[in-house]
Amino acid sequence: MGPRHGHRKAGRGLHEVALTNEFDLIARYFSRPAPTTYLGVGDDCALMPSVPGMQLATSTDLLIEGRHFFSGAEPRSLGHKALAVNLSDLAAMGATPAACLLGLSLPELRPDWLEAFADGFYALADAAGCPLVGGDTTRSPAGIVVSVTVLGHVPAGKALRRDAARQGDDIWVSGSLGAADIALRLLTGELPPDPALLAATRAALEHPEPPLALGAALAGVAHAALDISDGLLQDLGHILQASACGAQLEYPALPVAAALAALPAAQQLRAVLGGGDVYQLCFTAAAARREQILALARSCGTRVSRVGRITARQDGLQVLDAAGRPLDALPSGFDHFS
Ligand code: ADP
Ligand code: MG
Repeated sequence: MGPRHGHRKAGRGLHEVALTNEFDLIARYFSRPAPTTYLGVGDDCALMPSVPGMQLATSTDLLIEGRHFFSGAEPRSLGHKALAVNLSDLAAMGATPAACLLGLSLPELRPDWLEAFADGFYALADAAGCPLVGGDTTRSPAGIVVSVTVLGHVPAGKALRRDAARQGDDIWVSGSLGAADIALRLLTGELPPDPALLAATRAALEHPEPPLALGAALAGVAHAALDISDGLLQDLGHILQASACGAQLEYPALPVAAALAALPAAQQLRAVLGGGDVYQLCFTAAAARREQILALARSCGTRVSRVGRITARQDGLQVLDAAGRPLDALPSGFDHFS
């Protein structure tokens, strides 16, 4: 390696256009201390102990202004959500957080924005035991981009993989479904203004609380898992694809968010089956694990609902109504390129 900042030459592209006081910014907002066994922000890499018997789990998610969050989004919530969506991926793998990294690209330097963003980010990082140990900061030509990478540990061989569902497994869902989707439709104007409904659903969209303790507790207990980011049907479809299975969901067993109770049935159905941004878990487990899973969920303080079962591949994905008849005209989930 050359001198510490020898790579900051002209003509090396956008990344090299440093904020005038980038280092100040990092020191001021993103240098809270890491655990004493870690080397955190300030060197070329962060260092942390590796744990014998554990596999390292890692994931990254991008949030782009105008695509994943509204321009003018409240920065404290954005800081929280940027980390939450990544922690959700660790939970879905059965992993326990170890550290995170933050890539931040900003069109302008606004201390009040940075302060609130950092507070939201660190509040969740502290609560989750996921110290911020590094990142990158650049000026953006247009719009805010936030990229978070998380690292975690999962006992070797116990991770909750999408390809691990087995025919006859129960299908479970944590938390409740549909609130984030309704909040999003209210905020985009797709649904008519309804301040009470927005107040009741908004936290689900802006302040998701991924079930970290439950995810870690399910490692070695459940078979397959994933987090519901793009809608239950689409996400469960990934498990079915990877595991070469089918599934039957029982619509009346799905945990509809309480705030949706007064909405027309068709709107509820679309939000519950197709609504994204949930950041709760869909997982499968042997029927023999039912009592154990309910006890684990209780001890983690997370609601779980048993919503269906894994079937043979040729049965596809069916959703049954209260009379046991398959619903048709199912909503599809979110796809960035559809
Ligand atoms: P490099 O020259 O290796 O890219 P930088 O000068 O960009 O390093 O960053 C200096 C230190 O600050 C590094 O330890 C880096 O990980 C950390 N860092 C930069 N941006 C952030 C951020 N947004 N959040 C946390 N740490 C950051
Ligand atoms: Mg850098």
